Amino acid sequence: MDNAELRERAGALFPGGVSSPVRSFKAVPDEPVPIARAAGARLYDTEGGEYIDYVAAYGPLILGHAHAAVVEAVGEAAAGGTAFGALSPGEVDLGKRIKEATGLERLRFVNSGTESTMTAIRLARAATGRDLVVKFDGCYHGHSDGLLVKAGSGVATLGLSDSAGVPESIAAGTGVLPYNDPEALAQWFREHGDETAAVIVEPVAGNMGVVPPEDAFLEALQTVPKQHGALLINDEIITGFRLRYGLSGLLPEADLVCLGKVIGGGL
Ligand SMILES: *Cc1c(COP(=O)(O)O)cnc(C)c1O
Repeated sequence: MDNAELRERAGALFPGGVSSPVRSFKAVPDEPVPIARAAGARLYDTEGGEYIDYVAAYGPLILGHAHAAVVEAVGEAAAGGTAFGALSPGEVDLGKRIKEATGLERLRFVNSGTESTMTAIRLARAATGRDLVVKFDGCYHGHSDGLLVKAGSGVATLGLSDSAGVPESIAAGTGVLPYNDPEALAQWFREHGDETAAVIVEPVAGNMGVVPPEDAFLEALQTVPKQHGALLINDEIITGFRLRYGLSGLLPEADLVCLGKVIGGGL
């Protein structure tokens, strides 16, 4: 099957011919590239066309594609069964390695980064008994309803839904502030400090290009919410095990940490 035929068959099955909007190439004058296999840093389409992979499956493949040691380990694990719906030695082994590398006290495994941020927010709301959550414009935390929000006008605003299908009432539970702006954070907490459960942030913003955090912003994130009894959720889904082995180290005072991408290795 060549590239054109594969695109045609996919178009008959999936909206946009792909399984995620970013893969559709609708924003650029080109068609989706179908990838049939990959090795190391190279991707190959169905016609043998070769590409250098700068995407790495959007983050997880820090070791590249099909490294021999990874293929062998995955094969061995698969031969013993892949899902049990029960406690298993593999999860304890992985949990222990993550704990040793990050210093996190306790962990819970879920299926995706989206579920991890969604769960962290639910936990923060339950622990504080408050409803509002603050995020920063340009940061991405997965596609749960309450996090698909954008900034309205003004410096510190309640969110507007960023997608059809997200009710305004749900978007309004999320405040959206400018990144790297400690004064906007302080202003938010002066106005909504008693109602705010948590602040969620990417320690280095990786979803609007790469925007490094300023020291004063990191300082405010770790002090202002705490002064008002709110929690800090550190979303290290991109930065974890990528900036270095373990956490970025930029937000040591965070209450909850989300990991994803690299720790799943693309599986
Ligand atoms: C990718 C990403 C998520 C969502 O993870 P999924 O596994 O795609 O659901 C959340 N937060 C950040 C910072 C991410 O980069």
